[in-house]
Amino acid sequence: MGIQTGLQSKSSERFARRCAAMYRVRHMEAPKRFDILIQVQPWQGLVLEPESLVDLVVGELGATGLTVSIKAAEMQDAIGLDLAGQPLAVRVAPGALWQSEAGHYASTRLRPQVSPMVKGRQPARRLAEVCRGRSQVFRLRLSVLRDAALASRHGDAVICNALSMPAFNDLCPSHADVIECVRCQLLDLQGQFEPDVIEIENFTRPDRHGAGWGASMVWPTPPGAVEDALLAICFCPSCRQQAVQSDVDAASAARSVQVRLMRWLENETPYGGTMEDLLAEDAVLADYVACQRRVLLGALQLWDRSVPNLLLVVEKDLAGAPWNPTFEEVVGVAGRLMVRIDAGVSGEGCEYPSGGAGGDRACLEVAVDATSPGPAGGPDIVRCLTDLARAGVAGVEVENGLHVSPNRRPFIRQAIRAARRERML
Ligand SMILES: [Zn+2]
Repeated sequence: MGIQTGLQSKSSERFARRCAAMYRVRHMEAPKRFDILIQVQPWQGLVLEPESLVDLVVGELGATGLTVSIKAAEMQDAIGLDLAGQPLAVRVAPGALWQSEAGHYASTRLRPQVSPMVKGRQPARRLAEVCRGRSQVFRLRLSVLRDAALASRHGDAVICNALSMPAFNDLCPSHADVIECVRCQLLDLQGQFEPDVIEIENFTRPDRHGAGWGASMVWPTPPGAVEDALLAICFCPSCRQQAVQSDVDAASAARSVQVRLMRWLENETPYGGTMEDLLAEDAVLADYVACQRRVLLGALQLWDRSVPNLLLVVEKDLAGAPWNPTFEEVVGVAGRLMVRIDAGVSGEGCEYPSGGAGGDRACLEVAVDATSPGPAGGPDIVRCLTDLARAGVAGVEVENGLHVSPNRRPFIRQAIRAARRERML
């Protein structure tokens, strides 16, 4: 039953063997369906013609379909080549990249903030139509808790640490309106675009201070890993309230974090042990973060039930923070999962739970980033995709597959062909 989302150096082959072992347990045979998708960046969906995009994804690269990122989680600058080979620079302002339908949001006071880039257009609609017209798979990917546009408007819904310093871009899932607004966004997207699958990403809280706060920081003495993590634990009013309702002393938990931070600053020495050691000696804080984990799991359960084909995009280091659900817990509530792996020089291994209540129904896909440094964007992607196909995963998504330079595209095309052939045998 051991589960490990470890970061040991392992080849994609070894990863593939593990997937295969898991699938033998769960399915006895590999699922027949095998989708290979190309992820379309927010800026590409906005500036490129839908027909040209589908031509490129399906015609030139040979994928089954595309996944459009439908929200800019934060401000993003993109530099690349347009389809005519000319250099192009686009600054995408954060926000939803679709016009929401107000009727879906009656049950919450939060509304998706539409990125000014969209300017009244509905680019996803035409893409959906073109895909449907050509019988290609059409998916949407939604960033849920990382949402800079919404965070800047609703300070009370943002993650906030024990020193009362709020995060920039991350919403807190203890806040009832945040959970409900995500559910409404899922219903809105399902109703307007009828995607084959909605993928959600960024559904966990930041696991360390640097990840969620983003600003450059001046330290009197550098924090250790534990201090960095302590500075990320959310003590927003909603989290405190949820804890109190579960008979957990939120005020003591916050005080405990403050005292530990004080010790670090006074002594100029980080905590000697791990976060696990710390929680083992601090029962109140352990109860507090366990409560946060339960709240988030409840939200995932609610979202998973709200639309027919929800898929959770899982970071490989999901298990990093005790206030986020473990990989095993996520498998328990989600029908479909996609694990991001790094197919670089030293591919990273993941082991999956071999059983359990939810494990048996999980449908596993894998995401590989085509722009990751190293050979993954080059010839090695062929081997990686073939391994994954052989392992019996239900689908592979090539992230940033259109963001690579044109002379890398033939490798992606070759990789997709090889993976398909592997699956037909
Ligand atoms: Zn919170």
